[in-house]
Amino acid sequence: MIGFEDRVAIVTGAGRGLGAEHAKLLASRGARVVVNDPGGSVHGTDDGSRPADEVVAEITAAGGAAIADYHSVADPGSGEAIVAAAVGEFGKVDILVNNAGILRDRAFHNLAVEDLHAVLDVHLRGAFYVTQPAVRVMREHGYGRIVLTSSASGVLGNFGQSNYGAAKMALIGLMNVLKIEGVKHGIKVNAIAPIAGTRMTQELLGEMADRFDPALVAPAVAYLCSEECALTGELWSVGGGTISRFFIGLTDGYFKDPGSEGPLTIEDVAANLAPIRDETGYLVGESSRDEFTKLAGKLTG
Ligand code: NAD
Repeated sequence: MIGFEDRVAIVTGAGRGLGAEHAKLLASRGARVVVNDPGGSVHGTDDGSRPADEVVAEITAAGGAAIADYHSVADPGSGEAIVAAAVGEFGKVDILVNNAGILRDRAFHNLAVEDLHAVLDVHLRGAFYVTQPAVRVMREHGYGRIVLTSSASGVLGNFGQSNYGAAKMALIGLMNVLKIEGVKHGIKVNAIAPIAGTRMTQELLGEMADRFDPALVAPAVAYLCSEECALTGELWSVGGGTISRFFIGLTDGYFKDPGSEGPLTIEDVAANLAPIRDETGYLVGESSRDEFTKLAGKLTG
């Protein structure tokens, strides 16, 4: 059994949907959990709800330990406050699941600047605001597990979600840097691109929603939050009982040696689309250094 005894977790946006499932599963295996959620509509407007209270009530009724926190991750000071709540109540932070999210879908040509900022504030800036103070505490303890919630809308694209897709893909950039900075401190940073039937996907999934129970995503997140997890910098697609890995590959590409073959021309590019794009022998780098090493090898080879 993979357990979370003595572990303290923060799950943002844990009042409903995926976050609630993550929080409940971690708590059921012994984690003490901060259930963060200010409530609000799927568009991020206040609707007077306090769903975090219901999740905390469910966890405590089942014998677990949890507290509610109502800060919006979109507020710059929220991270310090949420982490302070965890440290104040439970003494530390071992696990952070950045899950809070909203939607403001619009075709790009109609996107209003407030809909851009609202989405970046919750998904991207919110992840920065909460993760930074959490990392500071994790570094003190030499241990941490962080999961970011990305989306296929950013990794692969989806009509009408330029703001959301850009924010979700930016989280992969954040993960890729934090995985490197976390190595010396026992901090593993991974991400999921979930598929789940929640209020966010009601229109998208329609009748298929029942097949994508959010509870089928939580085990993958819990694994990535566990001491057993030695992986870092992974992005997993998770939904409906499947778990797959997304990765970014660099093709071997086309190379024209400027020393012996002359400078690269526009026509060289046009004539070599096939080798530029050929996926045979691609590289999955662990850091930007790997790309540089590959290029340097060609230049000196
Ligand atoms: P949901 O709307 O059911 O849950 C999102 C939760 O985040 C809500 O409870 C909401 O109150 C909370 N939240 C919103 N703004 C917040 C803020 N500023 N601070 C703290 N909490 C806030 O949707 P969900 O499907 O469970 O989404 C969870 C995460 O998964 C989101 O980041 C979403 O973008 C992502 N995601 C979901 C799917 C899917 O198929 N459901 C697909 C890809 C990505």
